[in-house]
Amino acid sequence: MENFKTTIVYRYKTGLYVNLTNRCPTACSFCVKNSWKMDYRGSNLDLGGVEPSPAEIIALAKEQWAAQPFDEFVFCGYGEPTMRLEALLATARLIRNSRADPIPRNIRIRLNTNGLANAVWGRNVVPEMKGLIDSVHVSLNTSDPAQWAAIMRPMAPWAATGFEKVKEFIREASLLLPETFASAVEGNGVDIEKFTALARQLGAEPRVRPRLEAEAGQ
Ligand code: SF4
Repeated sequence: MENFKTTIVYRYKTGLYVNLTNRCPTACSFCVKNSWKMDYRGSNLDLGGVEPSPAEIIALAKEQWAAQPFDEFVFCGYGEPTMRLEALLATARLIRNSRADPIPRNIRIRLNTNGLANAVWGRNVVPEMKGLIDSVHVSLNTSDPAQWAAIMRPMAPWAATGFEKVKEFIREASLLLPETFASAVEGNGVDIEKFTALARQLGAEPRVRPRLEAEAGQ
């Protein structure tokens, strides 16, 4: 059944997920937002151009916590969360500064990202995440730059240097943040062995996941 109410926070497994933005620097070939018409398992993730403020997100998260506590707070929606870096960091900071009470200040905070933040912002943003983000999951997808461009379909400003910038982001994250994963989606003709080797070389834990159309979960 279609749900027309815009969803800013939604539950998945034991986590609370935050739909921060619909903007992306990529148009990933595996993305389901168009074929699923911006619906994610019954939640309408189309923000209609109105992006939520950190205070609004925290208020909604507190409501969700009151209904049922969650064990992870995840920045992941139909859009690249780091396109709103300041809002992302401010939201995490509210939690860490006990401004989201009764949500514990030390709750696990995860970021799912395509890893282009350093490219988009023109600086290394990973140090800004230290102490705020516990776990970062980067959609690296391949060890091959041409294949990366074909899978991720980056916008023009990030097409040429994007792959190197994603690798740089992973390397920095693995040095500064508690947990860094690099993921690939099955069925893209990717050499999984080479992908796994690159992920490890960058300091990340490799993760291969099924396409969303084929299996529940992300
Ligand atoms: S960054 Fe995420 S939402 Fe954007 S196109 Fe890629 S998979 Fe889809």
